[in-house]
Amino acid sequence: MIKYDPVLLEQWDKQYVWHPFTQMQQYAREKPLIIARGEGSYLIDVEGNRYLDGVSSLWVTVHGHCHPALNRAVKEQLDKIAHSTLLGLANIPSILLAKKLVEITPPGLNKVFYSDAGATAVEIALKMAFQYWQQKEGGCFRSKTKFISLVEAYHGDTIGSVSVGGMPLFHGIFKPLLFECLHAPAPYCYRCPLERERESCGMACADRLEELLKEHQQEVAAVIIEPLVQGAAGMITAPDGFLRRVRELCTRYNVLLIADEVAVGFGRTGRLFACEHEGVSPDLMCLAKGITGGYLPLAATLTTDEVYSAFLGKPEEGKTFYHGHTYTGNPLACAAALASIELFEKENLLAALQPKIELLHRKLDGFWELPHVGDIRQRGMMVGIELVADKKTKQPYPMEEQVGHRVILEARRRGLVIRPLGNVIVLMPVLAMSEEELNQVLEITYESIAVVTGK
Ligand code: PLP
Repeated sequence: MIKYDPVLLEQWDKQYVWHPFTQMQQYAREKPLIIARGEGSYLIDVEGNRYLDGVSSLWVTVHGHCHPALNRAVKEQLDKIAHSTLLGLANIPSILLAKKLVEITPPGLNKVFYSDAGATAVEIALKMAFQYWQQKEGGCFRSKTKFISLVEAYHGDTIGSVSVGGMPLFHGIFKPLLFECLHAPAPYCYRCPLERERESCGMACADRLEELLKEHQQEVAAVIIEPLVQGAAGMITAPDGFLRRVRELCTRYNVLLIADEVAVGFGRTGRLFACEHEGVSPDLMCLAKGITGGYLPLAATLTTDEVYSAFLGKPEEGKTFYHGHTYTGNPLACAAALASIELFEKENLLAALQPKIELLHRKLDGFWELPHVGDIRQRGMMVGIELVADKKTKQPYPMEEQVGHRVILEARRRGLVIRPLGNVIVLMPVLAMSEEELNQVLEITYESIAVVTGK
């Protein structure tokens, strides 16, 4: 195996690589963490240091790094073929995976359209919804052209997915390029946008969504939401029943529901899919991230026979869905996904998650004693710890203090990789992480917050 000089790698990284969502001037001042290998819940850097992977390598790793069964599945497929196209051809793993996805996702989702990233899964859902409503009238095409999403939503970084995003930081800059989207308030109970009390609000944010639907019913193609947890917004956890209410509203106002399960899918919330918690079947569902257990880029947009049938008709009349990527349905990625889903069943992963979710809950309770922990939000194996300058007034830390960033640097020194979202510390541990490792993640996180913000 070739051994690279860590100093040279650092120099080349800074010289040649442009990192995503990264202020590169600041990056250039810090020592990069260059990962050479993975082993279970650990990342190992070029100098041989080991770090617990507290964010599942950007929310994707399920069974651990370098899992023998997943390695075997990818290698076996590699010996057959690495890639062919779905444009006019088909391949075995993509067929088997589509059948499996239809079997395991909520009832009614019967068709699978592949792509390679969460953002493209969303892009596809938006375009499908748009085309679903499209009618030819007197030689012209008409459709519903608006979407509704939540404030603080994150659905990816392509122009379409940014258009339906609701995070001013990412979306403001591109505004002139975006199509129209209406925003309903986020169920952000810690800082209620409608200034209501959690206990007595009667889910006023859902009422606002209803008002929007009432007003714009004729123009809205779909409502898109992140079921249960708005991840990138800082793990905003919706109150029980919110998702069900959104489903009911979409049905009542004859608007499609797109469930973006890119972050919450594949076990993150304690069930295989977040929609299951509230018995919700969306009209379109976006999957990516954990779909391959964190092995290879793959995404899928699932939809119903009803949506699919809008694309059918006589060959000369039927609509074509004009979308597709070169690596759509890549056999290696599909083989990894099939092996990962099989492991969920073989290793009884979902049942094994419950005690870990409870452990997280118990241990996080102790974090409230820290003077600058304002809110702790947990849903399954997703956690957001919001740090505030003043606990009583909920006054946020000024962004320029970079408190979240300083906490994660402290954690890194102690052997844990986590990421902040502003001043929210995010924990997304590898789902197969042992209880002992999970305890370590929590201890290091606690200590790091205490060191940076005081005890
Ligand atoms: N949708 C949600 C809910 C996400 O959290 C993300 C990424 O974090 C995306 C879409 C975009 O996924 P990707 O980064 O794979 O394009």
